[in-house]
Amino acid sequence: MRTSRIHQPLTYDVRLPDEAQADALRLLDASRAVVNQALAILWPHLDEFATDRVGPAWKQVGKYIASPSPHGDRQWRCESEVVGRVLRAQAERKQAFLLVLPILSDGFIRPKTDKCPPGKNRSAIKEAITILQKSLEEDEISFVALQNVIEQACNYYFHHDQFPATYEDLQSIPLLNVGMLTYAGDDGGAKGQAYRLALDLDTGVARFRFRYPDSAGVWHWRKVDTIIPLPEVVKERCACGELMAPTLREEQRADGSRIAVLDFIIEVEKADLPAWENVEHVLGADWGVHTLLTATAVDEHSEQIGRPFFLNTGGFDGRQARTRRQIDELKKKVAKYEQEWDALPPDHPKRAWFNQKLAVWRREIDRCWRKYERRNRALAHLASNVLVLLARVHGCSLLSMESLKTLKTTGRGKGVRGRWRNYRNNTTIRGEIWRLLRYKCHLIGLRFHTEQPRGTSHTCPHCGRPAKTYHSPAHLDEAVRWGRWLFCDTCHYNGDRDYCASVNIARLGIAYLVQMKQTGKARSCSMTDPRVKPVSYTGAGAVLLLPPTGSPARPSISGKICYYPGWLGSAFLQSSQKNSVFLRLCG
Ligand SMILES: [Zn+2]
Repeated sequence: MRTSRIHQPLTYDVRLPDEAQADALRLLDASRAVVNQALAILWPHLDEFATDRVGPAWKQVGKYIASPSPHGDRQWRCESEVVGRVLRAQAERKQAFLLVLPILSDGFIRPKTDKCPPGKNRSAIKEAITILQKSLEEDEISFVALQNVIEQACNYYFHHDQFPATYEDLQSIPLLNVGMLTYAGDDGGAKGQAYRLALDLDTGVARFRFRYPDSAGVWHWRKVDTIIPLPEVVKERCACGELMAPTLREEQRADGSRIAVLDFIIEVEKADLPAWENVEHVLGADWGVHTLLTATAVDEHSEQIGRPFFLNTGGFDGRQARTRRQIDELKKKVAKYEQEWDALPPDHPKRAWFNQKLAVWRREIDRCWRKYERRNRALAHLASNVLVLLARVHGCSLLSMESLKTLKTTGRGKGVRGRWRNYRNNTTIRGEIWRLLRYKCHLIGLRFHTEQPRGTSHTCPHCGRPAKTYHSPAHLDEAVRWGRWLFCDTCHYNGDRDYCASVNIARLGIAYLVQMKQTGKARSCSMTDPRVKPVSYTGAGAVLLLPPTGSPARPSISGKICYYPGWLGSAFLQSSQKNSVFLRLCG
């Protein structure tokens, strides 16, 4: 692949037509067996995949072993490409593990209390990583990579009461659970010896042909091309990007059935970022305490443009919490039955009965997880699309986003357990939205900058002085740290806490922008910095082009804010954006 600075690969999965399914799944089973055998053989040599990484992964694997079960030279190359990529990624994680091994300590573990299950002490972990990173070369290893390994080590601790001594203790051999075969080791769509792929953009189809084992295990080429109708977005992408070698993959459905999909990987050029001098408007977005996201646009003269936007997830959190509860209950049942099963003598007739029950429940757990993750993904897509569209609508070329590192508790949900669950899911959702936003900003050429949230929800956006928050506009006698109404003692400005925080994030963005324009040096400001200017709201400017949908659509007015309930129940987007832009955002 070319350098990632100017190009970026996009992946679109397309289900193979029915006539090719059986053969493709057999191919995936055969290659998965080979990949897993090779992984098991090479696992003791993991370290070598950390250093010698020049050239394609399949060549490196080929230096050590030949196919444990040969089905043709190019077939093995594709399989060993998968093996090599897995091992290189694992070797990288091992490097991260070796770095954190000396700092793993009990301080990372938050002991069980009456209110919370045992967990990870995230602030201690964050602090330790920050210190560790200072001792490393710049960009040697990312914060997220280190955090990821530490969290896995903490999970290990929960099970074993001690931290792992070696990476191999922590990580079992990463065998593939479902089939995956990249064709990157082959000679390309026209000359490939394991696959052929041709696009016909006029008729909008791809012709795909592949080698596979028949039901007797004999390998053939498929006699005819499989015709795959291409989705609109893939056609559009192919017209301006370069089609890379595809990956054949297996997906498991909730009911246990399997399907084969082909990942079309298209490399496109990243959009150019706007020059700093052309950036005039900033969209500030805040992870809310009461809403999932709040966004407000501000121009470089510190005037708010348009109205704030709130993304309230309404019944979503409750639904997700219910699914989590269902999963926890099923897990408990499984654990109990596993214990009973263990206690039985090996030849006891009831063992088969237990096995059957356990299989059903495990499938059900799997189904719940998928549902849960699907919902999160859908919401994350929606949220990131809304933000990008808002930025466009208000002519913002800079998206100023509250950092992910400090997470607020949501303060929502009934009782501690409910709050804990919502919190857990919000953490996942935010990560997902974050990832998608970065990616979409790259795609459409929107600048993206992170701001530290310190003080943003306890500063008056109007005069810039520290301000307290209260339960509601009617309860201004007692300040509450997580209160949803901000009141400024100095200028008597007051407003919704999340809205104020989003304006403050936008103010930080403006201060950053002004510095970039004046000095060309990137430097973030803190909330108390005099360069962070107060914002005035004229009420003029662009209005929101995203009408709320769904029922009941009647807004309820409370204080300064208008709520549109049910917005997410029928989550779809409408926009006056050009089709091509809209497709990009949604694809
Ligand atoms: Zn004020």
